[in-house]
Amino acid sequence: MSLKDTTLLRQAALVGTRWIEADPKSGISVNNPATGELVGYVPKLGAAETKEAIAAAETAQKEWAARTAKERSVILRKWFELMMANQDDLGRILTMEQGKPLAEAKGEIAYGASFIEWFAEEGRRVYGDIVPGHQKDKRILVMKQPIGVVAAITPWNFPNAMITRKAGPAFAAGCAMVLKPASQTPFSAIAIAVLAERAGLPAGLFSVITGSAREIGAEMTANPVVRKLTFTGSTEVGAELYKQSAPTIKKLGLELGGNAPFIVFDDADLDAAVEGALIAKFRNNGQTCVCANRLYVQEGVYDAFSEKLAAAVGRLKTGNGFDEGVILGPLIDQAALAKVEEHVSDAVSKGGRIVQGGKRHSLGGTFYEATVLADVTPEMAVAREETFGPVAPLFRFKDETDVIAQANDTEFGLASYFYAKDLARVFRVAEALEYGMVGVNTGLISTAEAPFGGVKLSGLGREGSRYGIEEFTEMKYVCLGGI
Ligand code: ADP
Repeated sequence: MSLKDTTLLRQAALVGTRWIEADPKSGISVNNPATGELVGYVPKLGAAETKEAIAAAETAQKEWAARTAKERSVILRKWFELMMANQDDLGRILTMEQGKPLAEAKGEIAYGASFIEWFAEEGRRVYGDIVPGHQKDKRILVMKQPIGVVAAITPWNFPNAMITRKAGPAFAAGCAMVLKPASQTPFSAIAIAVLAERAGLPAGLFSVITGSAREIGAEMTANPVVRKLTFTGSTEVGAELYKQSAPTIKKLGLELGGNAPFIVFDDADLDAAVEGALIAKFRNNGQTCVCANRLYVQEGVYDAFSEKLAAAVGRLKTGNGFDEGVILGPLIDQAALAKVEEHVSDAVSKGGRIVQGGKRHSLGGTFYEATVLADVTPEMAVAREETFGPVAPLFRFKDETDVIAQANDTEFGLASYFYAKDLARVFRVAEALEYGMVGVNTGLISTAEAPFGGVKLSGLGREGSRYGIEEFTEMKYVCLGGI
C-alpha cells in the first residue's frame, strides 16, 4: 500500500533520545490480519531499554515542566496539525496492521488527533485554588503540578487513539511518557512518535518501546521514577499491573474490559435503535471495550427489532479494509476467531437461534460473518464474557426492573446503552445502570470532551474531558503563614 510519506512507516523504536532500528532476524514481525502479509519488523526490546527510556524521560520532563503551558500547547497543537495533515497515511498504516476499514481507520486518526487538540487547549487551564485560611495570619494555596514520568501500555484495537488519549493530557500537564504499544500494531505508535519529533516535542520526553510486554511492564511498574501507569487492555493484565505497581505506590489509570448492555424498550424508535446497535455492536468488527455485548429487547418489540437488525446486519460487507465498501474487517488473530466461534456454538448448544451469519466467513483467514443470535439466555457464555467480535446476542425481557437487574449482573461497568422515549424512564434507567458511561438513544459516546472510563472491573480513572488532565497532576497544598 503506497504512502505519500514513506518515512512514517518506520521500522524502529524510539528509546529516550535514540532510535533503535529493527533487525529482521531478531525483531518482531507485524502482519496484516486481512492478508497475512508482512508489514515490517520492530525491535524486540526489554528491561534495559525501558530503564534507559525512563532515565531520559526523567531528565526531559524537568525541562518540559518548566516551560509555560502556552509553550507546551503550541507544540501539541503543531502535533495535532501534523496528524491531520498525514491522516491518509496514518490511516493506511493503521489498516495495514490492524485490519479495520480504511474509512474507519482515518476516522480513528481524526478521533485520536482530537485528544491532542483538546488537551493542547486544556493544558492552559490547569488552575489551582486559594482557600480562606483557618487562622488570621494564614492563607491556603492549592497548586496542581505534573505527576512526572508516566508509563503507558496500550492495546491493538485502537492503535492510534488509545495512545493520544493518554499522551495528550500527559504532555499538556507537563509529564513525560514511556509507551509500550501492542506488538500487533506498533507502527501506528511509531508514526505518532515520528510526527512528535517533527512537531518539536523535546528529545527524551516520549519513548516508544516495542518488545516483550512482560519485561517492559515489569520494569515500568518496578521503577520508582515512574509515578503513574496508564493502561488500556484486559482486566486480567490490568490487575496484574496493579499488583506490580503496589510496592512503588504508583497512581494508576486503568481502562479495562467491558460487557456493555444495549437495552431497547417498547417505546423506543426501533429504526434509530437498529442504527445505534450497528454502531455500538459492529464498530471495529465488535472489537472495542465499549461494544454492545448483550442486547436486551423488550418482548413487545423483540421480533420486530430482531428482524430489522438481522436485515441491516446482512447488508454489512466484510472484507479487506482497503477494499471499497467494506464495513467489517478481519478479527485481529486466530485466538479472537476461536473465541467468537466458541461463544456462538455455546449459545446454539443451549438453545440460541442464529438469525443471521453464525459461521466463519468464506473469505477464510480470521474473517467471521456478522452474526445475530436470538433467544439468548443468561446461562450462555455471551452473557458473561466479552465476545470481542461481530456477534449480536438478543435477550428478551419483560419490564424495566427485570432488565436493570440483568444489565447490572456483571462484574464489569464500562459502557451501557438504552433506547427509550419516556423522560422519567430515561432518568430512572440512566441513574440505575452501574456503569461509567451511558448512551441514551445513541450508540456512539466516545469523544474528547467527555470523561471516558468505567467502574467495577472495568477500571480506574477517566480519560478525555477536563477531568482527564487531572489524572496526570498532583495536588500540592502550600500553607502561607505570618501574613
Ligand atoms: P488484549 O486482549 O486487548 O490484547 P491485553 O491486556 O492482553 O489485551 O494487552 C494489552 C496490552 O498489554 C498490550 O500492549 C500487551 O502487549 C500488554 N501486556 C500483555 N501482558 C502484559 C504484561 N504481563 N505486562 C505488561 N503488559 C502486558
